[in-house]
Amino acid sequence: CGVIGIYSQNDVSKKLFYGLNSLQHRGQEASGICVFNGEDMILDKGMGLVYDNFDDESFLKLKGNVGIGHVRYATAGGSYRYNSQPLLAFSKNREFALAHNGNLVNHQSIRDELEEEGMLFQTAIDTEVILSLVAKYYKGDIVEAVKKTMARIKGAYSVVMLFEDKLIAFRDPNGFRPLLIGRAKNGEVIIASENAPLEIIGTDAIRNVEPSEIIVVDKKGIHSDFFEKAEKKHCIFEYVYFARTDATLDGVNSYNFRRRCGEILSREAPVEADLVIAVPDSGTPAAMGYAQESGIPFAEGLVKNRYMGRTFIKPTAEERELSVKLKLNPLETVLKGKRIILVDDSIVRGTTSKNLIKRMKKAGAKEVHMRIVSPPVKFPCYYGINTPSRQKLIAANYSVEEMRKKIGADSLAFISMEGMLNATLMKENKFCEACFNGTYAVEPKELVQDEK
Ligand code: 5GP
Ligand code: SF4
Ligand code: MG
Repeated sequence: CGVIGIYSQNDVSKKLFYGLNSLQHRGQEASGICVFNGEDMILDKGMGLVYDNFDDESFLKLKGNVGIGHVRYATAGGSYRYNSQPLLAFSKNREFALAHNGNLVNHQSIRDELEEEGMLFQTAIDTEVILSLVAKYYKGDIVEAVKKTMARIKGAYSVVMLFEDKLIAFRDPNGFRPLLIGRAKNGEVIIASENAPLEIIGTDAIRNVEPSEIIVVDKKGIHSDFFEKAEKKHCIFEYVYFARTDATLDGVNSYNFRRRCGEILSREAPVEADLVIAVPDSGTPAAMGYAQESGIPFAEGLVKNRYMGRTFIKPTAEERELSVKLKLNPLETVLKGKRIILVDDSIVRGTTSKNLIKRMKKAGAKEVHMRIVSPPVKFPCYYGINTPSRQKLIAANYSVEEMRKKIGADSLAFISMEGMLNATLMKENKFCEACFNGTYAVEPKELVQDEK
């Protein structure tokens, strides 16, 4: 998911809309905006893309100088309107609105407990547990309420919240999912999942919201507080795939990372070939890095339908195959008679690579050597990326050689864990890599049981 919050002297809804647009890659299922107009919160949300959800009529209603927005990619709870965000709750004569990126690992037991106390839930999402706890713990001091909530919830959360005339943000102690804050010269403050909306809407000084940090923005300015600190565990998959190529999150630039991964992989797994081809778009910088380092020319060999969006979470294998077909088409004039190195960011189920290799060969490619700029994904993510269960992860069930046969490649290689970490240029390892090595910083107990 993607979140944004803006505190300003002027109307914020259009800016929230533009900001959400530049976070659209983080979720295409639903989108929503909530503003505070000085008296009431006004909420507008629906299924589908940001551009389809808001029009001039929405902006006439969404009047307010402070607001939050959300784009959804389902990780907990089905893809229904009632599960879309922001969430708005009334409690103790007050309104609380909240939007969340991440995934809690202990929301079920908290939900059971709150239901036991008589609380009713209106959605199936973990986010509502956060909102309910903040409302429950609010006794006149909102930061205290957030701290008490943070003491209960476990897992990944980057949250933006509206309370009275305040914009509030908080990030989990491990900092799994990104969150940034920027301030413009005129005093406007923007908080968002990535830097693109901050740069596009226009802020000058940008910094990360730190893990465990709680920020309150109101007429007194920006106030920062902290919950207990823990070891940093930023999601490395943000740089591999999830974030936009122009994202700089927690000190790592996604484009540079992807490019370096390609260079490193070309040294780790060289092969003789005529052309380096990317699976666009997340594979493109890596393919360029691979090409530059190996001296083998980069070429465009796949034409992408830019109107398809990210199509990975279709329910059936047939639909996923069809999506790949609709999204990417081999360019026969480039591929014919050539030995190809095909670079992609990751293999999850193996659908994309298998389908592409088959069709590239049909288009005349003589050989296809698959190169993947992340290690094999062997474990599910419980912190906000929707990887399937282990049975469906091809690398959890087959060796590299077996995978090579299954996807029909002439050779297959993945970047090493060390290589990927080196590509961050960070001296210390402050990253979560659980989907690659199974080391979970926060035990996903409940969910692991769910899965069985
Ligand atoms: P596979 O086809 O092997 O199941 O998935 C790998 C492909 O899906 C890669 O091209 C990668 O860019 C993309 N991908 C990996 N993780 C995700 C994800 O969480 N969401 C979406 N939409 N695509 C993903
Ligand atoms: Fe990111 Fe993987 Fe960790 Fe999930 S398990 S937070 S996808 S690195
Ligand atoms: Mg891809």
